[in-house]
Amino acid sequence: MGETTAAPLDPDCIFCRIVAGEIPSDRVYEDDEVIAFRDLAPKAPVHVLVVPREHSRDVRALAERPALLAHVTRVASQVAAEESDGDFRLLFNTGPTAGQTVFHVHAHVLAGRTLAEGEL
Ligand code: AMP
Repeated sequence: MGETTAAPLDPDCIFCRIVAGEIPSDRVYEDDEVIAFRDLAPKAPVHVLVVPREHSRDVRALAERPALLAHVTRVASQVAAEESDGDFRLLFNTGPTAGQTVFHVHAHVLAGRTLAEGEL
């Protein structure tokens, strides 16, 4: 899928640089609001990150953007339907204590195997 080329909104943010096309990614979906690409270190047969183009730190900021949050869930659902049986786990690590390592909001879409309760 083609990469967008534009200056990253925040040049210090790896996901802004992926959105801008400066860093390559294996994109499975993109539109004006979000991109979705495969995680570099997949934890399931389907492990896709849905990332708003606009930079915000974590999902707490998306509480103020309900239409965008809803769109992220729609895209997650579409990716899971295209890549697996349609069932999926949607995960937002929020803050360092919860395991967030990239501070540009992203939803993990995990699918393609049985996901045990409590894992990930
Ligand atoms: P989190 O720990 O929730 O912040 O998730 C960040 C995720 O981004 C991790 O699962 C990483 O494997 C993934 N990741 C980091 N850099 C890249 C990259 N360049 N391309 C794809 N996935 C990445």
